[in-house]
Amino acid sequence: MSAVLTVTFWGVRGSYPAPGSHTQRVGGNTPCVEVRAGNHRLILDAGTGLIGLGRALMAEYRNDKKPITATLLFSHTHHDHTQGFPFFTPLYLPSTTLYVFGPRTLHEDLEQVLSRAMLPPVFPITLDQLPCVRVMRNLSEGEVVTLNNGNSEPRVMLEHRDALPASSDAVLVRVMRSYAHPQGVFIYRIEYDNQAIVYATDTEGYTSSDQRLIRFARGAGLLIHDAQYTESEYASTVAPRQGWGHSTWQMAVGVAQAAGVQRLALFHHEPEHEDDALEKLEQDAQAHFPATVLAREGMQIELK
Ligand SMILES: [Zn+2]
Ligand SMILES: [Zn+2]
Repeated sequence: MSAVLTVTFWGVRGSYPAPGSHTQRVGGNTPCVEVRAGNHRLILDAGTGLIGLGRALMAEYRNDKKPITATLLFSHTHHDHTQGFPFFTPLYLPSTTLYVFGPRTLHEDLEQVLSRAMLPPVFPITLDQLPCVRVMRNLSEGEVVTLNNGNSEPRVMLEHRDALPASSDAVLVRVMRSYAHPQGVFIYRIEYDNQAIVYATDTEGYTSSDQRLIRFARGAGLLIHDAQYTESEYASTVAPRQGWGHSTWQMAVGVAQAAGVQRLALFHHEPEHEDDALEKLEQDAQAHFPATVLAREGMQIELK
């Protein structure tokens, strides 16, 4: 049975890149997750992990000469989720088409925010100078991005107004806006052929868990959830992390259990945490929710 959804982790680290021998097993690049669904390629966030994905796509392109097409979904536009974008080499091919979606933040369109991050003197060229074809659009909660089989161009539909296609005929991307992160964050649910993955990075748990997120993640095959802090870091009286918009593994496990997901991937690792500490954290989480994995760079999960 071939995979319905194939998830590849290209960057799993939160806040800033953390290269070095102490992070080699888990990986030091910031968030980027690739999801293959049918003949579509979706990319969640453009942290520095996107650079490695770009390299892989360029190798494919040199081989088969097929133009690169992808749908890029931003959870939000903090540095660690955008920094790989200007170094995504397929952007420099005129034959590439990129559909880009994300939130409007602080009264600014996604395109405005991205173009300000890519502008002299902070970057040598502007967004407008990129030769690829780009379609950029803000999303709102209640909108659903649909990608039909056989058509690479995504459509945006309204959940409560439009007749959505069946998930056997199209990939559906649902959006939940969370306020459990400074300036807000989008949580995405990608559905295809009775399978679903939920990408919930940069989100902080609530007392008795985030009930909206639990409903949104209900029954997913894979939940990718922020797990940046240990409980002692989160509750530290010296440097408390409460309110910074990130979770502990206990918060991630709480959502996974209540939503009845099949698997949980702990994500957005604290850059100060070394491999040994993260692997210990993985074991601790597995004692409570056995189907937990620590997201590692290069790891692939197939949902069938
Ligand atoms: Zn982040
Ligand atoms: Zn953030």
